Amino acid sequence: MVDGKIRQALETMPKSELHLHIEGTLEPELALTLADRNGVTLPWTDIDGLRAQYEFENLQSFLELYYALMKTLKTKDDFKDLMLAYLTRANANGVRHAEIFFDPQVHVCTNGLDFDMVLDGLLEGLEIGRERFDISGGLILSIVRDMDIDSANRILDMAAPRKTEILGIGLDSAEVGYPPAEFIDQFARARDFGWHCVAHAGEEGPAAYIRDALNLLHAERIDHGIHIQDDRELLERVARDGVPLTCCPLSNLRLQVVHDMREHPIPRFLHEGVVCTINSDDPAYFGGYAAANYAALADIGMSMEELASLAKNSIDASFASDDRKTQLHAQLATWRTQHGL
Ligand SMILES: [Zn+2]
Repeated sequence: MVDGKIRQALETMPKSELHLHIEGTLEPELALTLADRNGVTLPWTDIDGLRAQYEFENLQSFLELYYALMKTLKTKDDFKDLMLAYLTRANANGVRHAEIFFDPQVHVCTNGLDFDMVLDGLLEGLEIGRERFDISGGLILSIVRDMDIDSANRILDMAAPRKTEILGIGLDSAEVGYPPAEFIDQFARARDFGWHCVAHAGEEGPAAYIRDALNLLHAERIDHGIHIQDDRELLERVARDGVPLTCCPLSNLRLQVVHDMREHPIPRFLHEGVVCTINSDDPAYFGGYAAANYAALADIGMSMEELASLAKNSIDASFASDDRKTQLHAQLATWRTQHGL
């Protein structure tokens, strides 16, 4: 493990977080508090019993717990509290800008909540975080690819009157068997809204899904994308065109997408000129927030210079305004000077 001084430096290094599911920041303690507050019965009533559920074999076994705990979120204040809990931790991890996924299909179509209430709670939390911590950012509405497509269309109908309050569209959840080609119409509609487009591809799914996300969905960033390592031509295209990948090392390890951190392709991707960024995905479930993901790469021998270049990528790959990017780059430059880089 990296020593305390390196860990502390990584916690203060200014960075953006571009691949973060707000529902994946629901810590077991908060889930139990919300269950109690809202009268939701969970199969686990104590923290140890719940924590014992966090050993996942694959994406599917994780998603089962993830969706069970999402049922504890009921009110606008729950969503505001969830957002503020994340931003408090993000602030302690040096995150200065965050583009945050949310899954309204689950909250609205499965759990029966009101779309505007969910959105209002999350936006209120973001606004408080902006004032309290100077963390900028926005929300990315993510399509849950293994739910029926009608529910995605209904959510886009609900989002249409509030399109200017949302940054973009994403595509998440169980990947294999749900190729990007099934979501062409929804992404076209999102582009008509003026939204940015990103998509999870090439986490458990094949490299072909990454190519389709670029060609068919016009994805501006690929979430995960580590299976470009299986397709030389695609890897060269991603590097040449500067398509950012939002990589999540601890998530990949926990879900056994890689079996040993030393096998993670990020160092090779950087060497090949791929624009990688480092993110925490679902940090309450995968063992760490942003700085812990950078520390995992320090553990396998990546230098502070390389880690700082990943933070620089996270600023460049964000959808922040040019003015905000200039501010963030200045903060990173100050940090570099303080740390002799
Ligand atoms: Zn994800």
